[in-house]
Amino acid sequence: MATLAPAEFSMTIDGKAVTSAKTIPVINPATGEPFALAPEASADQLESAVEAATRAFPGWRDTPMAERKAALITASDIIAAHVPELTALFTREQGRPTEGARAEVSGAAMWLKATTLLDIPVDVTEDSETRRIEVHHVPLGVVCGIVPWNFPVLLAIWKIAPALMAGNTLVLKPSPFTPLTTLRIGELIRDCFPAGVLNIISGGDELGPMMTAHKGFAKITFTGSTATGRRVMETAAKDLKRITLELGGNDAAIIMPDVDVDAIASELFQGAFHNTGQVCVVTKRMFIHEDIYDQLRDRLHQLAKETAVGDGAQQGSTYGPIQNAIQFARVQDLLAEARASGLTMLEGAPVPKRGYFIPLTIVDNPPDNSRVVVEEAFGPVLPLLKFADVDEVVRRANDTEYGLSGAVWSKDIEQATAIAHRLDTGTVWINQNLQSTPFTPLAGAKQSGFGQENGLPGLLEFTRPKSIYIPKSGALA
Ligand code: NAD
Repeated sequence: MATLAPAEFSMTIDGKAVTSAKTIPVINPATGEPFALAPEASADQLESAVEAATRAFPGWRDTPMAERKAALITASDIIAAHVPELTALFTREQGRPTEGARAEVSGAAMWLKATTLLDIPVDVTEDSETRRIEVHHVPLGVVCGIVPWNFPVLLAIWKIAPALMAGNTLVLKPSPFTPLTTLRIGELIRDCFPAGVLNIISGGDELGPMMTAHKGFAKITFTGSTATGRRVMETAAKDLKRITLELGGNDAAIIMPDVDVDAIASELFQGAFHNTGQVCVVTKRMFIHEDIYDQLRDRLHQLAKETAVGDGAQQGSTYGPIQNAIQFARVQDLLAEARASGLTMLEGAPVPKRGYFIPLTIVDNPPDNSRVVVEEAFGPVLPLLKFADVDEVVRRANDTEYGLSGAVWSKDIEQATAIAHRLDTGTVWINQNLQSTPFTPLAGAKQSGFGQENGLPGLLEFTRPKSIYIPKSGALA
């Protein structure tokens, strides 16, 4: 095993670089070996971060919006100027091949800037002869941001951009599996803001619960699994912290019989296997009409056999490893159980023996109640499910505790739109996959979340309404 240098990347607390006595190893999932150390924040360092953010809040809240936006734009430009360095680091810790890693890092810089195109309105609910009632949207205070490992950079920006733009200060925690790129971004952009406005701390499994229990936070914005989301909500209830929870999904794609299978197969394939299936909104159940089932199944299997899964740092890898050992074991367990129960598994190209690799795997028409259909695999496992009519497929697609996204594929846009309206999810794509924009809310239904991110509604989640009744004359004063 390679010798690890002391933590190369610093946390950002009160505008300064901070290291720690303890460290956590960061593993390259393509090798299964640690390659760097990240700081492990102590309870005192969390305290310092919250205190710094608390001190910085009044000044940042009162900073004119134009100046707050300018700071975010500068931060965006700095990230954009460091895309090659950040991309290489991203691939090493997250596993995703270079092209996809670059897309996330440069997309995050774009997102940060695009968020500044939004404006926080002042709503006027009455403007009569006697009075004017204005509803302002004011910041909450110190926000706690918690991020998962599958899209570590973009999802961090989804918290940094709206929290800071709305006038809050932030303490952000990346996943222990993917802390480095976020810490490095902190180093690069910390001077864009007054000290204490943006704090980034890393740590192990204890840090998240310590943060959500901390009384100094006015709000928690959390992205991760539904199980952890429930724990976050429970803890937040104790002192009524505001929460936004972006959680798991078991997203259905419905493929109608009128599609051109050859024309769309590749899009459908990418919509299921992007980031090796580790995306909250990839297709996790593909319902295919019986008339085209065999043809599309064979085409998807062919694509799986032709698609290279390997070390993301090596040219030619389309998809990388599973990001961490725990998730690797979970997906292996799911596949072993599916195999043991006699399901038909159609495997893709062979994968490297070293590292956390799993072949892209299609499951041929398993029963709806099999684990591989019911659970969010969060890996390269795609169950294909045969259906005969629209009412049946809508019922089956909605028969899940989750409600994040869904997709409908058909030449008949009117019918596809009618189906889209019947899906119990926060987002539905028609003839496309995995789309999101800085101006459109992403909001999970059912067990997929609470609240929303992005767009004006997402931005307003970092504010509270404050209604001011203003008389037209000062007669009574
Ligand atoms: P996870 O819930 O294990 O961890 C997410 C984050 O929470 C990590 O930073 C972790 O350290 C922290 N954490 C763990 N336990 C905690 C606790 N008790 N209190 C506070 N924080 C705690 O999730 P993961 O495995 O990192 O991510 C995968 C999951 O995230 C999947 O279910 C996926 O669908 C979901 N996800 C959802 C979205 C969305 O927008 N809805 C986006 C990406 C990922």
